[in-house]
Amino acid sequence: MRVLKVLFAIALVAAVVVGVIYWLRTHPRETPAPFVAERRLRIYALDVGQGDSFLIVSPEGKSVLIDAGPPQAGGKVAAALQARKIKSLDLLVATHPHADHIGGMKSVIETVAVKNFLDSGQIFASDEYERLMRAIKEKRIKFIEAKKGMTFDLDSGVRIEVLNPPGNGQWITKVRPGGSVENANSVVLRLTYGGFSMLFTGDAEFETEALMMKSGVPLRAQVLKVGHHGSRHATSGKFLEAVKPEAAIISCGEDNRYGHPAQLTLDRLRKAGVNVYRTDLSGEIEIISDGKKFEIHAARNPSLAALWQGRIELIELP
Ligand SMILES: [Zn+2]
Repeated sequence: MRVLKVLFAIALVAAVVVGVIYWLRTHPRETPAPFVAERRLRIYALDVGQGDSFLIVSPEGKSVLIDAGPPQAGGKVAAALQARKIKSLDLLVATHPHADHIGGMKSVIETVAVKNFLDSGQIFASDEYERLMRAIKEKRIKFIEAKKGMTFDLDSGVRIEVLNPPGNGQWITKVRPGGSVENANSVVLRLTYGGFSMLFTGDAEFETEALMMKSGVPLRAQVLKVGHHGSRHATSGKFLEAVKPEAAIISCGEDNRYGHPAQLTLDRLRKAGVNVYRTDLSGEIEIISDGKKFEIHAARNPSLAALWQGRIELIELP
């Protein structure tokens, strides 16, 4: 009898164990990837007035700064990094050597350590650019010349791919009357994180958009950093069809005399059904993604009437 009891007990325990294993197998716990649980990719369109500065912070804390606004915004950009406890930038990008993009970089380099510097590789004669190049040399920051196909791996699967310039000495040399070769050869980057993607176009205009579409580089992106502050010479209807953005960010200043953003560009974005955000009206804009969905938060929410209203270009008479 005693033997039977022991056997029965063993059988019972075995049955429970098998049952539990079976239950666990048929009811797998959903184990989300770490970034889905709490970590997020954050991208900030910093409020630098007339210029560009975008900060990317990956789920595990790698940081990239694309442009640093005009000289007068340098302190603000440096403060934005400090506020987020960023002591070193993994990558600092100068999309092109104009002052409204590199002007603030001196303050940034003096405030935080910079590990790598990505440049469009265009030789440009300005005191500002030369000073920046000197500072990069003095600080022994690694200098990288952007070239199509170059890819930077951050963490958690966040990747940044260079789409322009093509490299190998191929430059856009012909631009529209009044256009700029430096703008046309802007560093264009596409960030991907799981199913999320964002395109950073610097001050690229139609010529660059056409070249990229022709070359077949991946352009699809949920969020588009609108080229050249919303200039009427950038963001063509065809380009919007290729990118198919859900949202677009325009970085420009309240009192710019360039007419940024242009009514024509806003109309093209509206026709394409894109949600538009503008730093001139909203201040700082934050994009957050878990690799699947994304959210956009702005410091201020303007009226729809103001949002779709372009600015007027002031023409100086000689
Ligand atoms: Zn610019």
